[in-house]
Amino acid sequence: MALERTLSIVKPDGVQKNLIGEVYRRFEQAGLKIVAARMMHLSLAQAEGFYAVHRERPFFKDLTKYMSSGPVIVQVLEGENAVAKNRELMGATDPKKADKGTIRGDLAASIEENVAHGSDSAENAKIEIAYFFAAADICPRTR
Ligand code: GDP
Repeated sequence: MALERTLSIVKPDGVQKNLIGEVYRRFEQAGLKIVAARMMHLSLAQAEGFYAVHRERPFFKDLTKYMSSGPVIVQVLEGENAVAKNRELMGATDPKKADKGTIRGDLAASIEENVAHGSDSAENAKIEIAYFFAAADICPRTR
């Protein structure tokens, strides 16, 4: 198994509903370590840049408007198979299809307002981490 890092965001609905602690509890209980974190209110341009790969999707405009609608908290998670583990903890994009016990299955309101973002591959994780954090912002956890 590989020690990996992944980019996670508690989205505006998650912050608004006071779910930061609940989401962090799930990361920590699953053995993922938070090695960088930052609260920010994304501009529309920042949200568009982050989701540039979805530019052609029909929901791009709604998604970027929603992601810039309120504060988010962005974090880097580190652990064995962190990318897949975080995706497992989040569950399916659509909360109606997400398993019970997952972040989206338990806490999300809709396919758009689905509480959390997580990188979908190790390659994208590197790109997404670099979008928000400089190398010096990340604090490797040795114990
Ligand atoms: P993820 O990797 O599970 O987050 O899913 P995607 O990469 O496919 O989509 C990115 C984000 O766009 C999702 O987490 C949702 O917030 C939003 N999204 C996905 N599908 C839809 C949709 O059909 N309609 C709307 N309004 N938003 C969507």
